[in-house]
Amino acid sequence: MISRIDLRGTSGDPRDLLPRAETDVASALETVRPICDDVRDRGVDALMELAERFDGVRPDAIRVPREELDSALANLDHNVRAALHESIQRARAVHRDQRRPETKTRVTPGGTVTERWVPVGRVGLYAPGGRAAYPSSVVMNVVPAQEAGVGSLAVASPPQAEYGGLPHPTVLAACALLEVDEVYAVGGAQAVAMFAYGAGECARADMVTGPGNLWVAAAKRLLKGTVGIDAEAGPTEIAILADETANPGYVAADLISQAEHDSVAASVLVTHSPQLATEVEAELNRRVPETKHSERVTEALGGRQSGIVLVDSLVHGLTVVDAYAAEHLEVMTAEARSVAARVRNAGAIFVGDHSPVSLGDYCAGSNHVLPTGGSACHSSGLSVLTFLRGVHVVDYDRSALAEVAHHVVALADAEDLPAHGEAVNARLEHRGSGDDE
Ligand code: NAD
Repeated sequence: MISRIDLRGTSGDPRDLLPRAETDVASALETVRPICDDVRDRGVDALMELAERFDGVRPDAIRVPREELDSALANLDHNVRAALHESIQRARAVHRDQRRPETKTRVTPGGTVTERWVPVGRVGLYAPGGRAAYPSSVVMNVVPAQEAGVGSLAVASPPQAEYGGLPHPTVLAACALLEVDEVYAVGGAQAVAMFAYGAGECARADMVTGPGNLWVAAAKRLLKGTVGIDAEAGPTEIAILADETANPGYVAADLISQAEHDSVAASVLVTHSPQLATEVEAELNRRVPETKHSERVTEALGGRQSGIVLVDSLVHGLTVVDAYAAEHLEVMTAEARSVAARVRNAGAIFVGDHSPVSLGDYCAGSNHVLPTGGSACHSSGLSVLTFLRGVHVVDYDRSALAEVAHHVVALADAEDLPAHGEAVNARLEHRGSGDDE
């Protein structure tokens, strides 16, 4: 079911020895290039044809009418509505606290640098919907953008043949609950292109965010620069750092929960307890056949991207999970809080027995759009900061400039850029009308 990888007795960088999914975004670029070019050149006509080709339905219009959003919300199951409401409230509380105050530094008398946080002007948010509907991803994209103060915000999600070419009704209901009224029935690479170039009613966006499949990731890579992107999300990952005190049932349930996403999802247990490894294997053998998506789960757990990694000690385990830099890392050890505090690389860390990744997927308040494929060693998940730009405002008066002028000139000369120095000296040699002393 799940393989064992024995790193006991090894030292050094374990990255090459760890299981990891191989996603070939580069090869998908050739598929998505003509799609993106077509959207750029033919706009809505291209979007309609691509929907027929890839989603098996031609929507009446790419923009979802306001009445459809209202009706999706009115018809939403009341338990799901209450759950979405709770998810939104918790995400709002966490993301509101991420907002940054302006910082003003007085570098010298008469010389200040202020860092002003300015929201991105317009963003396009992608909620996937090929094989499943993800209203939770609507929440995780929209809430940080709203809390950052983004002025113009649109959501795209694939049209569904089952719903007459509209996105999934739960996705539409989530948009309505969040008071987003600009929603497009557009999926995949073409949605990224629509936001990058603009098409029909959809004005071009400054930035596109959100998870998606290989083609969404490839379109983001292709159009990065034309439009800002958050990250190229790969298949989901869970790593669990556990010792002999961990509950094998919880560990197995959590490995299965992320494997349920995708046959290429990664589930990795890192432990120095061979006994726990054996107990988790037994739990997996018992639980997997009973779970609804057991075929997909079996494939994911049996894939080369998943495994039980045996290490020498907790310290060795910490080295391994830092090297792996999981999208989601659970710590189920004795003193889990202090062990978690020693982890450097993970998209999000879930501490102890009662903080499973599923909680973070929906209702912890944390964001679930997180760095995958090891990119957690240099990138963060979606947050308010994703949608803010720090703009430095430099404000020096004449005497503050005069005080540092010789240093500017020295550095300019060292770089053989004397005109830089002259631009400073010009202000000090002649008193002009703009002098403020
Ligand atoms: P998706 O919306 O990402 O992709 C569907 C679109 O793919 C279709 O609309 C179509 O345009 C395009 N497509 C399908 N076949 C194609 C082909 N042969 N060539 C070009 N384009 C094609 O939905 P999905 O496929 O269900 O994938 C969603 C992914 O997002 C999953 O891997 C899931 O695990 C992931 N996800 C991640 C998070 C997260 O926070 N990390 C959250 C939710 C979903």
